[in-house]
Order: sequence, then C-alpha cells, then structure tokens
Amino acid sequence: MDKLRAVLFDLDDTLFDWRLASMRGLAALQAEHPALAREPLKKLEQELWELVQTTHAGMMDRRMSAAEIRQERFRRLFAVRGVEIPAGQAELVHDLYREAFLESQCTVPGVPELLRELRESATVGVVTNNLSRREQEMKVRACGLDGLVDFIVVSEEVSEPKPGRGIFEAALARAGCRANEAVMVGDSWEMDVMGAVRIGIRAVWFNRRDLLCTDPSLATELRSFEPLDTALGVVLRSTSPTAH
Ligand SMILES: [Mg+2]
Repeated sequence: MDKLRAVLFDLDDTLFDWRLASMRGLAALQAEHPALAREPLKKLEQELWELVQTTHAGMMDRRMSAAEIRQERFRRLFAVRGVEIPAGQAELVHDLYREAFLESQCTVPGVPELLRELRESATVGVVTNNLSRREQEMKVRACGLDGLVDFIVVSEEVSEPKPGRGIFEAALARAGCRANEAVMVGDSWEMDVMGAVRIGIRAVWFNRRDLLCTDPSLATELRSFEPLDTALGVVLRSTSPTAH
C-alpha cells in the first residue's frame, strides 16, 4: 500500500452533524405546524434526508435555484401529509427550519479526536459539494474544526462537483499528492466512494445510516468514528481499490 499522505473528508453528515442539525430544524417546525407535530423526529429527518438526496442534483446543475429546491423539499414533506403549502409559506417554513439548523454547531461524534490524530501524519482536507464556500466554511468554523483541517475544496470553485473528477483532482493538487497516496472518507456511496474510487483514491464509506452496501470490494465501511482506535485503523489501513 502506498504511504498515506492526505485524508479527504466530505463535510455534511461526515464531519458536520447534518442529521442532528436537521432534527433541530424539524423540531422547530413541529412546534409551529400541527401537521408535523405528532411525527417521530427521526422519521421526519429520514424523509427530509431522502428528499435532499433526490433533489440535490437539480441544485448542483442549477436546473432550479437553491431557494426553489429548498422550498420544494418542504412542500413535499407537507404534501405527503395531505397539507398543501403555497410557495410563500414554504419559504417561511424553510427559514424557520434553517434558523434552528444553523444554531446546531456539532461535529459527528469522534471527529475532532480523529482529525487531531490524522494530522500527525497526513494532510487533512474537506471536499464538499455546495454552491457556497461561505456556508461550508461557516459550518467548519462553527463546529470548531477550522484549526483541524488544512484546506477546503468547494464544488462552486472547481470544474466539476462530486462525483466528477474535477473536484477530486483539485483536492489532490491542494494536498500535493497523487491519488494512490490519498483516502476519501464520506457518507455518500455515489458522490464520495464512487467519485474517489473512479480516479484511484481509496475510499472509506461512512455508513452512519446503516444502508446496504452495494459492493464491499470498493470501500472499507465505517459506521462510527468512535472508538477512536477503530476509526483510525480503518482510515489508515483502508485498502487500495481495484481499477474501475
Ligand atoms: Mg455527505
């Protein structure tokens, strides 16, 4: 195995605890909207997460504006409960959710300890799909990770978002290493794992939601960053993917 020189991390739901932030946002909505009030928070969070997965591509290729897509997610969340909300109200719903979401400034458990250890021997970078560097930097700062990462590559500034090559090539250039000297850690099988593996970066799939792995030969799986020794072992000893 080639010496590991860089560890690349996805941000949302890998370093930044998007799930916790989202549950806080949804709890704020439950307090105001009877249609959601009786639903278990975890169920709502799972539904919204699935809506984000299915609508994210439309945002990245700018078929719809970010605002339109965010409103559409909440419109659908209400619509499946038989409540139609007009565009103007969807915007207010999103704003209420967003305010509580942004107040949540937590990393996924175990992240600071893991990054501290990894930086003893490797460069640590963040590779994230988002239309705003400002927003992603804000999250990194808010959860206290700005001193623990060496660089952030945001898709808005590169030729291609994940899972395309462009964003990974930009990250390797920032890290000053080759693909076989890096590992990518992320929660999205398609964006993080497949994107990395296609250009020869080994991958660790952060499968916090206990999803079914479609091909275990492509990535090492990790369900938690705790305990630290186990997580560190998986990241440092992940095997090189076979050529695809
Ligand atoms: Mg993610």
